[in-house]
Amino acid sequence: MEFPGALLESLRRAQRVAVLTGAGISQESGLRTFRDSQSGIWAKYRPEDLASPEGFRRNPQMVWDWYAWRRLAVEGVRPNAGHYALVQMALHFADFTLITQNVDGLHAAAGTRAPIELHGNIRHVRCSECAARAEHWDESEKQVPRCALCGGLLRPDVVWFGEPLPRAELERALRASTECQVFFSIGTSAIVQPAASLPYAARRTGAIVVEINAESTPLTGAAAFSLRGKSGEVLPALVKALWQ
Ligand code: NAD
Ligand code: ZN
Repeated sequence: MEFPGALLESLRRAQRVAVLTGAGISQESGLRTFRDSQSGIWAKYRPEDLASPEGFRRNPQMVWDWYAWRRLAVEGVRPNAGHYALVQMALHFADFTLITQNVDGLHAAAGTRAPIELHGNIRHVRCSECAARAEHWDESEKQVPRCALCGGLLRPDVVWFGEPLPRAELERALRASTECQVFFSIGTSAIVQPAASLPYAARRTGAIVVEINAESTPLTGAAAFSLRGKSGEVLPALVKALWQ
């Protein structure tokens, strides 16, 4: 795989790098995108009913069951070469921030330290009333489990349609994006806000924006470099081209 000399040069000089990832980086681990994951018995429901506060209020059991099913799917998967290449890459920069829209926890599983999980983590569960994190719950229980502190219904600790992103995470992500010299947008369709605005914030403050995606996206035209391909192939090749 050949990379533009100017890109390699910029990366060898860079000290501060930020990376935004989306569902595409987990595709080679076998995880399907949001809409794809609505197969089988779930195909008849709209995502807004399965992943929104209104949907949960209307039918908590259905929402809980859908997430229990997705948790099971995530448990069986491993990080892929793309996740691991980002761990390698981090070693070469004084400042490296990984921001993800994924809820699968695979960046942390690969060894990335303190990834910013903008949309939460599907492996975590919290109370829908008092927000306390639940460490233990009975997955085999047929009913939605309840909070040990207040008795409220437990829910997945992810950001649903119509909910705000966690403020501290969003602020950290914005700071890293506006302070970096190189910004990577990897495996994201770059349309879900506010994450989609991060590459533009980086570009405004002078960063070189690099996109890695299997297809073109609304960001492609605005990126300084657009690398077309699977992240599990492009990222290891890039690490090799840079430092081996
Ligand atoms: P998306 O599904 O909208 O876009 C995925 C992008 O990845 C596409 O542009 C596609 O061309 C690209 N892609 C697919 N396979 C690829 C590969 N092997 N290498 C490189 N690129 C590849 O995903 P999104 O932009 O992350 O936004 C969807 C929303 O759904 C997010 O809010 C996210 O939280 C949620 N989601 C999370 C997961 C997860 O945690 N694994 C999975 C699905 C959806
Ligand atoms: Zn509670």
